[in-house]
Amino acid sequence: MSIRVGQATVLENLVGGRWVAPEGAPHEDVPNPATGEVLARVPHSTAAHVDAAVAAAAAAFPAWRATPVVERARLMFRYKALLEDHFEELSRLVTEENGKTLDEARGEVRRGIEVVEFACGMPTLMMGQVLEDVARGIDSELIRVPVGVVAGICPFNFPAMIPLWMYPIALAAGNTFVFKPSERTPITGVRLAELLLDAGAPPGVLNLVHGARETADTLLAHPAVRAVSFVGSAPVAEYVYRTAAAHGKRVQALAGAKNYMIVMPDADLDVTVPAVIASAFGNAGERCLAGSVVEAVGEIADPLVARLGEAAARLRLGAGADSTTELGPVIRAAHRDRIVGYIERGLQEGARLVTDGRRAMSDSTGGFFIGATVFDLVRPEMAIAQDEIFGPVLSVIRSRSLDEAIEHANRSRFGNMAAIFTRSGKAAREFRTRIEAGMVGINVGVPAPMAFFPFSGWKGSFYGDLHATGRDAVEFYTEKRVVTTRWP
Ligand code: NAD
Repeated sequence: MSIRVGQATVLENLVGGRWVAPEGAPHEDVPNPATGEVLARVPHSTAAHVDAAVAAAAAAFPAWRATPVVERARLMFRYKALLEDHFEELSRLVTEENGKTLDEARGEVRRGIEVVEFACGMPTLMMGQVLEDVARGIDSELIRVPVGVVAGICPFNFPAMIPLWMYPIALAAGNTFVFKPSERTPITGVRLAELLLDAGAPPGVLNLVHGARETADTLLAHPAVRAVSFVGSAPVAEYVYRTAAAHGKRVQALAGAKNYMIVMPDADLDVTVPAVIASAFGNAGERCLAGSVVEAVGEIADPLVARLGEAAARLRLGAGADSTTELGPVIRAAHRDRIVGYIERGLQEGARLVTDGRRAMSDSTGGFFIGATVFDLVRPEMAIAQDEIFGPVLSVIRSRSLDEAIEHANRSRFGNMAAIFTRSGKAAREFRTRIEAGMVGINVGVPAPMAFFPFSGWKGSFYGDLHATGRDAVEFYTEKRVVTTRWP
């Protein structure tokens, strides 16, 4: 929840079922990326504020864990209904604070709700195993129990979907939770938490602390936090993984990406070009599944580059709330400047700029806009082919064969997503066998796994072993206890 102070809305933490202003915390402005208008002020919670939220989660744990799993699932059924009732409101909040278009925001809220639907199945998902007579007169049973207090640290780019990857499954499994939204998009998380309270979550089951690095650090070291779910950039993911593991916690840390899309000479360009454009420029390229490098194989390169360049130049840049907008702003001015720096670097390194998004940049509305950019003649060793730019920049590498294209893609330190566009089953099979990425698209540009599958990045795109969502998440949020019984 929030309070009004003058013109600004000041966000509060949720601790033990009550919204409280973290006393003495410094605050930061949260601007609307399309206009620069300040939407809210977000506090940076200190160690004492985090302690209070973790203590509330720890106090709520015994009763919540003892609540029958069918009752915990019923909370999720009621939550799902409330999220549906507030679907448009949530989507508009996402657009307002993140900048993505309303359709993209609706897509993310839908994907988030699907995780709540998955969590409704917890009675079945948590079920254990039994084996009679493992020795004479001795039986064994495996029981899944919740781990305790879980912390969730979220990025700015999916303010609704990514928190919903975490706490619905964790709570339905009997854990209590401390959620730290991104300080850049904290408002949607507040509304999501309010709706969970409205659905009947007991006090302390879900807590929310605002803040950034220092707030996260307290969670990573806190003795009462048993597990950490993290989604964010690669350097922070590695740091979170090391730090939380050093403090004895289980950790899943989903990290950054640089995703390759291979376009074979036999690809149908009428299908491929829109799919590549949507992958590269959807969510303004601020997506861990954004395809940001195209490997154009053989003679398809010339027509493909021409069509990608034209389609990118045609994308309508504007505020996400405007229904005609196809490309919204990026999250902050500094982030836009970093993207411009990469465009300049690509030119210095000798790539050919086909469509220059800087031409569409405009400060007239106060927003953080940059147009869609396409580079041709990119080489795999260039920074624009290797680094996660996290903006609307697409690099085309020309390769001679599928082998060469796979070799380029596998050089990447990341391994989140890779896609191939082809009419050949043989090429597709070769690709899916040899590509070093955990989420693979075959004639699909954004192969996002549904809630009942794991979100399974590889290599530098993931630290840990159990991924977010699907059965992996159920395993992550539960301990296994094996009981051996004899009645002499
Ligand atoms: P970020 O790493 O800057 O921040 C993520 C979270 O970590 C935020 O809550 C932030 O407050 C916190 N944080 C920042 N610095 C920290 C530090 N030093 N110690 C502890 N916590 C810290 O990421 P972002 O810019 O918000 O999100 C974009 C990144 O997230 C991109 O790299 C993107 O690829 C990645 N991402 C990955 C996935 C995935 O599934 N692999 C999904 C979405 C986003």
